[in-house]
Amino acid sequence: MSMFQDIPVDVGVIYEGERIRRKDMFVELGGPDVKEKFELARVKKPEEVEDGKITIIGPDIKDMEEGKTYPFGIIIEVAGAKLEPELEGVIERRIHAYCNYIEGFMHLNQRYDIWLRLSKKSYQKGLNSFQYIGKVLHRLFKSELPIIEKMQITFITDAEKVKELYPQALQIYEARDARARGLKDEEVDKFYGCILCQSFAPTHCCVITPQRYSNCGAISWFDARASANIDPKGPIFEIDRGELLDPVKGEYSGVNEAVKKRTLGEITRVWLYTAFGYPHTSCGCFEGVAFYIPEVDGFGIVHRGYKDVTVNGLAFSTLADSTAGGRQVDGFHGISIEYMRSPKFLQADGGYKRVVWMPKEVKERVKNFIPAELVDKIATEEDAKTIDELKAFLKARGHPVVERWKEEVVVAPEVVPAEAAEAMEEAAPAMVPTITAATLPITAGGYKIILKDAKIYAKRVIIKTVKGEKPEKR
Ligand code: SF4
Repeated sequence: MSMFQDIPVDVGVIYEGERIRRKDMFVELGGPDVKEKFELARVKKPEEVEDGKITIIGPDIKDMEEGKTYPFGIIIEVAGAKLEPELEGVIERRIHAYCNYIEGFMHLNQRYDIWLRLSKKSYQKGLNSFQYIGKVLHRLFKSELPIIEKMQITFITDAEKVKELYPQALQIYEARDARARGLKDEEVDKFYGCILCQSFAPTHCCVITPQRYSNCGAISWFDARASANIDPKGPIFEIDRGELLDPVKGEYSGVNEAVKKRTLGEITRVWLYTAFGYPHTSCGCFEGVAFYIPEVDGFGIVHRGYKDVTVNGLAFSTLADSTAGGRQVDGFHGISIEYMRSPKFLQADGGYKRVVWMPKEVKERVKNFIPAELVDKIATEEDAKTIDELKAFLKARGHPVVERWKEEVVVAPEVVPAEAAEAMEEAAPAMVPTITAATLPITAGGYKIILKDAKIYAKRVIIKTVKGEKPEKR
C-alpha cells in the first residue's frame, strides 16, 4: 500500500491472523503476565483533538529490553461532526484489526485483556517506535471510517500511568455495557452480525442481540447498530431477525439465513441461548468459556485471565482450544462476561441453575445477576478444586443440579470407525453430537486416557460414577 511507504514494514490485510511465538518476539505488551492493560476509544470535542498527534508516555519500543513484557494502554481520541459516543466501542474494536495489518505486530483480545507482540524481524526492519504504529492506525482509521475527522493516539508503557488509568477504563466499559441492559431481544426487529474475527476463525459469525452480547465482550447491540449505520458494508451488519422459531433456545429464521450466508453455508442454524445442539459459534477472542462437566451434569465457567486449572483439571487455554475456531462444539461455549448478566444466559440449558463452578473473580463481577438463592450454591476455586470436591459441595449446598443426578443410567457410546463416522456426520449432522478433541484427557478408574485428534460420536452419553465400586475388568 503506497500510503505506508514511510513505514519500515509492510501493512495489509494479509498479516491478519499472523501469530508471533515467544521465541520470535522482541517485546510483549499487556497479555496474561500483566495485570493492568487496556485500550480505549473516546469521542471528544473537535477542539480537544489534534489530528495526527501521537504521544508516548513511558519507554518507546527502542528503549525496551528484548524479551520483556510491559504494561500497556492505548487511548484513541476522535472527533467528527457525526461521531457519537455510541461508536466508541466499535472504533475501539477496530484497533484489533488494524494493529494486525502491521507485519510482525500481533494484537489479541480486547479492552482489559489486550495482548500484543512485536516480532524481532519487524523490529530489525526498523519498526522501533510507537510513532510508526500510531501513523498506521491514524491512516487506516481515517481512510476506512471517514466520519472520523480528527484523531490523536496515546501509547502508555509507563507502569504507574497504566495503573492509574486502568480503573477509569474499567468504569467506562461498565457504563457502556450497562446502557444495553434492560432491552429485550423480543423488543427489537433487528439484530446485528459481526465477522471481524473471520481472519482467525473463518466460519465464525457473532450474532449480537440486546441480550446476547458479542463473544469478545466489546460490542453491544447499541454499538453494533451504530457501526452498521455508519459503515453498512463493514464487518458489522444488520440482521432482520425474522420469525422466532424457538423462544427458549433462541432460534430465529433471519439469524439462520444471515449466518448461513456469511459463513458460506458452513453454519446453517444457530440457537442463541444454549451450549448444545446448534450453539452460537466461538471464534477465539471470547472472554470466557462455559464448559460442560458431565460428572455433575452442570457447567463450569472460566475466564481468560484465570491462571490455574479449572475444577475439571483443564486450564483456560486447553478449554479454549476445544472451543475456538468458528465451530459449534457441544458443551464448549465461548461467552462474554456481559452475556452472564443477561436473563437469557444459557436459558435453554437451565441458566444459573445449571452453573456449578466459576473463578471467584468472575463470580464477584456477575454476583448481582445470579439469582440470589443460587449465589452460595455455585462453587469457586476456594470451594472445590476437583470434581469430587465439587460433587460434595453441590450436595451439601443443595444445588438444583443435584436433582438431575437421580436419573443416572449408563449408556455406552457406540464406537464407529472414522470413515463411517464422517459419513454419519454428513448424513445427519443434526442428530449426532460431536466432540472434537485435539488432546482431551479423561480420568477414570485411576487411569488417564489421552485422546489425540479423536472424534467421538454418540446418540446419548450419560456418565455415572458409582461410589465404592471398582471398575470392571473387560
Ligand atoms: S468476537 Fe464477535 S463481535 Fe467481537 S470482534 Fe469478533 S466477531 Fe466481532
